[in-house]
Amino acid sequence: MPNYRVHDAINLTALGMSFAGYSMLANTNVIPSVSGAAMIGYTLSYLAGTFLVTPDLDLHGSKPKKRWGIFRFLWRPYATLVPHRSSFSHGWIIGPLTRLLYLALLTLPLLILTNTVQASRELAQQYIGWDALTAIVVGYYLSQWMHLIADRAPLRP
Ligand SMILES: [Zn+2]
Repeated sequence: MPNYRVHDAINLTALGMSFAGYSMLANTNVIPSVSGAAMIGYTLSYLAGTFLVTPDLDLHGSKPKKRWGIFRFLWRPYATLVPHRSSFSHGWIIGPLTRLLYLALLTLPLLILTNTVQASRELAQQYIGWDALTAIVVGYYLSQWMHLIADRAPLRP
């Protein structure tokens, strides 16, 4: 299995290639141009999926977990509950979704207490369209899939 440096290099190379591919296709009107918010959302979610919310959070002491700094303890239950390279971490659909749900469960009480959910919803409705939301999901999932391709993870949900 590749180490984190190889994963990072593969993911960043693929990100650059996706920008080049998008530019080429959008400039020749093969696909429509997307908004700046969509490009930013895609990039940020891809980078978050590359460096912070990766399938290898199922390992105690992994580099992605260390990148969480003082908040790395948040991923301890995840690493304890999810066997390494199982469908819940290295599945193509369920794996990325599991990490998002886990993160949502961890942060939701804090977001509700600080009334951030309502403020975020209003902000999102005002400034983020469906193209940006789609781009965020695509960016996150692509980053996860690049990891799984590098791991040669079997195709499973
Ligand atoms: Zn992995």
